[in-house]
Amino acid sequence: MRGIVWFREDLRTIDNKALHHAAKQCDDGVIAIYLLDPAMWKKHDVAACKVNFLLRGLAKLKENLAKLTIHFIVVKIDEGANIPELIRGLLTDCKAQALFFNRQYEYDELSRDQAVQQLLAKNALESFAFDDKVILAPGTIKNLQGQDYQIFTAYKQAWLKHFREQTIKPYPTPKAQKFIEIALKSYPIPEKLPGFETTIDPDLWPIGQEAALRRLHRFVDNSLFQYHEIRDFPAQDGTSKLSPYLAAGMISPRQCFLSALEVNNNEMDSGNQGATTWLTELIWREFYQHILIAAPRVSKHQAYQQNTDKIRWDFNKNQLQAWQEGQTGYPIIDAAMRQLNTTGWMHNRLRMVVAMFLTKNLFFDWRLGEKYFISHLIDGDLAANNGGWQWSASTGTDSAPYFRIFNPVRQSERFDPEGKFILQYCPELKGFDKKSIHDPHTSLPLIAELQGYPYPIVALRSKREKVIAAYKKVSA
Ligand code: FAD
Repeated sequence: MRGIVWFREDLRTIDNKALHHAAKQCDDGVIAIYLLDPAMWKKHDVAACKVNFLLRGLAKLKENLAKLTIHFIVVKIDEGANIPELIRGLLTDCKAQALFFNRQYEYDELSRDQAVQQLLAKNALESFAFDDKVILAPGTIKNLQGQDYQIFTAYKQAWLKHFREQTIKPYPTPKAQKFIEIALKSYPIPEKLPGFETTIDPDLWPIGQEAALRRLHRFVDNSLFQYHEIRDFPAQDGTSKLSPYLAAGMISPRQCFLSALEVNNNEMDSGNQGATTWLTELIWREFYQHILIAAPRVSKHQAYQQNTDKIRWDFNKNQLQAWQEGQTGYPIIDAAMRQLNTTGWMHNRLRMVVAMFLTKNLFFDWRLGEKYFISHLIDGDLAANNGGWQWSASTGTDSAPYFRIFNPVRQSERFDPEGKFILQYCPELKGFDKKSIHDPHTSLPLIAELQGYPYPIVALRSKREKVIAAYKKVSA
C-alpha cells in the first residue's frame, strides 16, 4: 500500500502517530502533504507571527522528511477550495490508497475532516485518523454517568487514572522509506505571505523539532523543580515557553509529559512539586481540547455558560485600543500587552491579569480579547485561548467566580515586586522605584506626567457594582 500523511498541527517527524502508522502500514512508499490555506488563516484570525513560525516550520519539516526519503508536497489552496476533492485528487495523482492524519478538534476542522473521510470511503480509498494533539483523546474520559467532565479537578483525577491504565510511550521515528517517483510538484514554501507581515524577531523562536526538544530539556534540567515557585513571576524565566511548539506540533505533549515524569520518578501527583504542577498544566491543555468536543459551541464564539451570552457588555473604541496597545495607565497591563505585541507571547499570569482587566474592569466582551490574542499570539490555540478567556470572564467551565476581580495594581506588587518586568517594556517609568512603579499616577503624578506615561483609562472600582449586578442578573 502507498499512503499520504496530511500534516496540519503536527510539524514533526519525531513521535508523530499518523506518520508512524503510515510508515508501518505502507510498503510502497509514503508521501507527505500540507495544505497552505491563507484564507482559512485569515478567517480564523491566525497571527502573522504564527504564520511566519509555521512557514519556517514547514521548511524544517521538509528537511526532516527528506532524511526519511519522504516527498513533501505543499499545495496552496484558494478560498472556497473543495478540500475533500482535492485530497482525493492528490491520492490518485500519487497512486496512493490511504490517507493518514492526526485529528484537530475545532468545529470547522472536524467537519472538514469528516467530509474528506466520507468522500474517500465512497471512492474505495482508506483513511486513518489518530488522536495525537493530546495524550488522551477528547471524548474518552467520562464520569460514571457517561457524561463529559465540566470541572477540571475531577477531569484531572479521571485523566490520571486513564493514563495509569495505559502504556503511553513515544512513537519511534520511522526509518527511511522506499524511494518512489511522483509526478506532483510542490508549491515552493514561501518565506512570507502577503497579509501576514510581522515585525516579531524570528530569532526569539528558533524553529523545528530539534529546537523544541532542546528547549524542553533545558527547562526540565534547569527550571522544572522550581516551577511551582517561580512560574507566576514574569520577570523570571520560570516557564518552558514551549507553547508555540506545542501549538504547531513541533513537539508532542507526550514528549513533554514523559520527560517531566521521568525526572519525577514516574510520580504524577506526588514527588517534586514543581514537576507535578507542570504536569497539571499539561493536563489543563488536554482539558480545554476535551471541552472543544464536549461543548462544540465554544468553537463558534459562544459562551460555555450560555446564560452569560445575555450579558450586555460595555464598549469604548478608544479604551479598547489603549488596552491593545499597552497604553492603559496601569503598568503591569501595559507591559504585558507590549510583551505580546513585540514578542508574540505573554506570560500566563499576565494573560489572566489583562483578560480580567478587559472583562471585569472595562467590562468588555471577552470575545474582543480572545480575538486580539489569537491574532497576535505565536502560540494561538483556539482551545487554550478560549478556555483562558472564558475562565477570566467567568463564563467558562470552572471559571473564576464572577465577583472575583483581580486588582492589577495588587497583582503587579505581588508578582513583579521589583518592577523589573514593567521596566523591560515601559521605559517611560525609568527612575520609578519598586514602590511607586505599580501605580505611577497615584504615587508620583507629576513625574509620571513629565515622563509621558499615560493616565489610567478607567478607575479600578468604578464598574464593580455594575459588573456584579450584570452577572447576577443573567445567573438568576
Ligand atoms: P508552561 O507554564 O511551561 O506550561 C507548559 C504547557 O502547558 C504550555 O506550553 C501549554 O501548552 C500548557 N498550558 C499551560 N498553562 C495552560 C493553561 N492555563 N491552559 C491550557 N494549557 C496550558 N495557551 C496556549 O497555548 N495558546 C493560547 O492561545 C493561550 N491563550 C490563553 C489566553 C488566556 C486569557 C489565558 C489566561 C491563558 C492562555 N493560554 C494559552 C494558556 C497559558 O497562558 C499558556 O499556555 C502559557 O502561558 C504558555 O507558556 P509556557 O509554554 O511557558 O507554559
